[in-house]
Amino acid sequence: MHIGGPLGGLVPVSKISELNITFESFQENGFLLGHASVVCIPQSFPLVNYLHHLFEFTAHESCGKCFPCRLGSTRGKELFDKAIHTDYKIDKTLLNDLLETMEIGSLCALGGGLPLPIKNALMYFEEELKEFIR
Ligand code: SF4
Repeated sequence: MHIGGPLGGLVPVSKISELNITFESFQENGFLLGHASVVCIPQSFPLVNYLHHLFEFTAHESCGKCFPCRLGSTRGKELFDKAIHTDYKIDKTLLNDLLETMEIGSLCALGGGLPLPIKNALMYFEEELKEFIR
């Protein structure tokens, strides 16, 4: 489930029972309550496509003022494009570096917020993503 808006956390169903609907509870568990919207991602929908969509959304919405967001979102979208459409596998260290650069270096919550759901996915859905990320 994607809770808290486009830059909220990706919460596996198994973690739902551990959360209270408070900002603190979500933060303590490594998620973000945000505006508390809930988007359910069907099991049949490839998560890798969802992550690609998050980078694409950020690249589209980026105002371009700072390069970690402007370039990082586009580079991330390109990485996932390549992994989805070819046999290329994304280097996890490279992806983590990209996420850290965006998180630390972005001037606002758009570029700075994107890393959270991607990191959640890497942590909780490693098995599904291993075909695309090494
Ligand atoms: S992080 Fe914010 S300020 Fe920086 S490019 Fe993205 S939208 Fe603009």
